[in-house]
Amino acid sequence: MAKLLEGKPLAEKIKEEIKSEISSLKKKPVLASIQVGDNAGAEAYVKSQKKTAETLGIEYQFHKLSQDTTEVSLIEFIQKLNSDKSVNGVIIQMPLPGQIDYKKISQFILPEKDVEGMHPANIGKIVFGKAKILPCTPAAVMELLNSTGVNLYGKEVVVVGHSEIVGKPLSLLLLDKFATVTICHIGTSGAGKLEEHVRKAEVLIVAVGKAGLIKGEWIKEDAIVIDVGINRVGDKIVGDVEFETAEKRASYITPVPGGVGPLTVTMLMRNVVEAAKLQQQ
Ligand code: NDP
Repeated sequence: MAKLLEGKPLAEKIKEEIKSEISSLKKKPVLASIQVGDNAGAEAYVKSQKKTAETLGIEYQFHKLSQDTTEVSLIEFIQKLNSDKSVNGVIIQMPLPGQIDYKKISQFILPEKDVEGMHPANIGKIVFGKAKILPCTPAAVMELLNSTGVNLYGKEVVVVGHSEIVGKPLSLLLLDKFATVTICHIGTSGAGKLEEHVRKAEVLIVAVGKAGLIKGEWIKEDAIVIDVGINRVGDKIVGDVEFETAEKRASYITPVPGGVGPLTVTMLMRNVVEAAKLQQQ
């Protein structure tokens, strides 16, 4: 039976490290958060980010803009925060209203204030193994893997999902650890080859958003399974992996909820501190 890889205790440990880093900074880091319009999902994220920031000693500056904000006025707002020396990090809450293209807008955040780690300059640094600010979910997955003590050198690692926010940057971070990385996506499933790849995985990471996509019986004996997926099924939240069967075969497995999720906001706060450090240098 697999050991559970729970995010919360690991997040608590990392938060202690963050607190101690903050105590060595010249001033309290400031995170500016922008929400455009009303959205219950965004509001829940804001509440959780604000709470985490404040317990760590990070100032959380919340800016709510109206639903009809244009791209031009949002860019102007971002540029104001860019030139405000008291602000260390900027985050744009999702979802955004239809008139705003996140990909376009997010590139206007200065790379050194891009605490989500999604600016092309920060993503590019991952390729060179030089990134200081990492995208939050891939960073959370790397922390979970690190907590198992497994050496990724030469391991067969299979990543299912190749999104810009999870699968692609994560694959580069794994490569940097000399894992043998296979990236599966819709084309892999379309060719009927997903099972074949998953069966080979000594470490399996799934970030798709389809409940039950990965059958428990496909999991290699003693594999490490990180399930990033979040799916609502009836009144339950489940991942992409059939947990009950997978748990019997894996050596470690993340629960959903309670695995990757609790770590991502902690990774965001770590980025804020990293940004503050870069700006103080
Ligand atoms: P996206 O929808 O952006 O990406 C999903 C990926 O899965 C795409 O690369 C897609 O390929 C691929 N895919 C879709 N169907 C299949 C299939 N049948 N077989 C193989 N690959 C497939 O989602 P995200 O990356 O943003 O998120 C993935 C999941 O992780 C979601 O459930 C999301 O809620 C969750 N998530 C959880 C976080 C957490 O903190 N725990 C944080 C971020 C995300 P293609 O694009 O080619 O169709």
